[in-house]
Amino acid sequence: MKVITRFAPSPTGYFHAGSYRTALFSYIFARQQGGRFVLRIEDTDRERSKKEYEENIVDSLKWLGLDYDDFSRQSDHTANYRKHIERLIANSQAFVSAEKVAAAGERSEVIRFKNPNKVVVFNDLIRGRIEFDTTELGDFVIAKSLDEPVFHLAVVVDDAESGITHVIRGEDHISNTPRHILLYEALGFPVPSYAHIPLLLATDRSKLSKRNGAIPVTEYRRRGFLPAAVVNYLALLGWHPEDNREVMSFAEIIKDFSLERVQKAGAIFDEAKLRWFNRQYLLQLNEADFSEAVQPFLPEWLSVKSPVLKRLLPIIKDKIAAFDEVPALFEESGELHFVRSLPAYDLAKLPWKKSTEPTATAIKHLTEAKRLLHILADIEFDANTIKDTLWPYAEAQGRGDVLWPLRIALTGQDKSPDPFVSAAILGREESLKRLDSALHRLNTQESQSLKHG
Ligand code: GLU
Repeated sequence: MKVITRFAPSPTGYFHAGSYRTALFSYIFARQQGGRFVLRIEDTDRERSKKEYEENIVDSLKWLGLDYDDFSRQSDHTANYRKHIERLIANSQAFVSAEKVAAAGERSEVIRFKNPNKVVVFNDLIRGRIEFDTTELGDFVIAKSLDEPVFHLAVVVDDAESGITHVIRGEDHISNTPRHILLYEALGFPVPSYAHIPLLLATDRSKLSKRNGAIPVTEYRRRGFLPAAVVNYLALLGWHPEDNREVMSFAEIIKDFSLERVQKAGAIFDEAKLRWFNRQYLLQLNEADFSEAVQPFLPEWLSVKSPVLKRLLPIIKDKIAAFDEVPALFEESGELHFVRSLPAYDLAKLPWKKSTEPTATAIKHLTEAKRLLHILADIEFDANTIKDTLWPYAEAQGRGDVLWPLRIALTGQDKSPDPFVSAAILGREESLKRLDSALHRLNTQESQSLKHG
């Protein structure tokens, strides 16, 4: 038996992680079994279905790397549904029923399934044996007219005719399954296996939805998340491998996945954890890939070819979990704000508070730091060489006394990379310029206080 699974979304909105996790489990299972995975757009609800949502689904699957072997749309199958509805009516398994539309008081017709009122039993691959007395469902509606099947009929006809062997879907569909099984039996189709996967919950354990912050999956693309990280995280929502590994390649996930190990309890979607995964994947990017991927998130003034950017890239990489964190680094409160231009800072900030004679000490050490840095050539001006050059002096004179004024002189900020890294980012010329300006301000202050002192 060749396994065939499907993802059957209704294009009535933008989907968040929950739906794509369902798609992912179906995809993984099919690929693992050497089977087929198909995408079926369930657009029987003509009013609520929109082309833009369908495009978003196709787009999201592509971004996540969930390639499908077949594509269909329920709106293209109307004639086929009609054939099956007519057959059910001819066999007295369905009937046209005239109903009163409550509000208008008019009569309209619907087509109802003649329920045989039996107990349906199925063995859910995740939840085990499920027994359901269908009597309580009554003669349920299967179509609004011959050309307007409702979800229950359309899903059964399509799954049966496309040979779906495993229906993997959200547990919110469990209550629909008894109806579907009755329809399979009435239509003479073999019943597929079912696996109902647990819902995704928000961190407050409520059902994940727009209201508690769930965003369309394509929004993660816009924010610069890496699809491999998103796939890895989604795969671990409700499933985990026996050895509890977390960072796994798609191939490893496909190899180790098992429906039997999918948990029954809801799984919590936590964006902080997704960021953690994203960071693991980000760290694996080589320089060229990182440099290309970060471009859209960099401030405009930082030109692609600037040497500063080249020096900044490893620093940025070290500081973020996802690319959407990049802009904040350069904002006023960000650690890299000093790169574009020296922020105005209060002169009182320059001397190390614990120094004896703070201003004179700052002048002395900045003068020496400047002299030492001046000796370095442009090409030697990297964080390691700068550190090797200044460290012995700082050790001998007192680290705070030397390094604090240096940091403020270079960055004007108390939160910034260490002064060696900051100097390397700025480059030799700009670093020396900033030291000069700090010294100039300090000296002016000293002479004024001597005059007035
Ligand atoms: N179209 C249904 C939905 O969007 C899914 C149907 C199914 O998976 O059986 O919820």
